[in-house]
Amino acid sequence: MNAVPEQPDQPADIDAALLLRWLDTATSVIEREAAHLTELDSPIGDADHGNNMRRGFLAARAALQQEPPDTPGGVLVGVGRQLISTVGGASGPLYGTLLRRTGKALGDAPAATAAELRDALKAGVDALAQLGGAVPEDKTMVDALVPALDAFTAALDAGEGTADALSATARAAGEGAAATIPLRARKGRASYLGDRSIGHQDPGATSSALLLTALADTAREASSS
Ligand code: ADP
Ligand code: MG
Repeated sequence: MNAVPEQPDQPADIDAALLLRWLDTATSVIEREAAHLTELDSPIGDADHGNNMRRGFLAARAALQQEPPDTPGGVLVGVGRQLISTVGGASGPLYGTLLRRTGKALGDAPAATAAELRDALKAGVDALAQLGGAVPEDKTMVDALVPALDAFTAALDAGEGTADALSATARAAGEGAAATIPLRARKGRASYLGDRSIGHQDPGATSSALLLTALADTAREASSS
């Protein structure tokens, strides 16, 4: 049986079909933006972030198209598993942990409310931060994900529906990614550069914002159809 939603007026509108559409959209966006992500990873990294993300998402989309999971948790666990097994860079295990942990927190329910997704995403971000040891302002993907979670919570507290709440989440992630520009990197390859990492946007924070924007767009399409 499903858990009874804490707020009965919230629809459980996040299901496997929606997250499979997200995977499709996210993969297209990553393909389109791969060159840009790699360009961002050039001055402060090893110029592979776009390729890493493209390889991981293409593998995930292919695997999940072959055998589509029937729960939203199953979709996220499946994508996370593919990223861990196909991406060699730091971002593979980090995103893999984020998605697997988020998916596990959703459990085997056939659908989740936005509040349930927020709680699950919080567990995922906590697991990623623990794995990488990064805190906000270290100039990593955490700088997009933590403000995104805060905005998600604020939007739900303000009574916004799933699509609006996810739009606010994606917007905050984009702002968080832009706010990495003046930061000095304290984690990952960019940290080897010290002060020379200042003035460049973090590639991982940028891809996090892209993935959340794809989710917001997918939810918006679902709510207007
Ligand atoms: P690699 O750094 O191994 O080449 P990628 O280029 O694919 O891997 O990913 C780099 C991104 O990973 C960075 O822009 C940053 O956002 C993220 N990252 C790297 N190390 C950490 C860490 N310890 N914690 C959180 N995020 C990290
Ligand atoms: Mg790299």
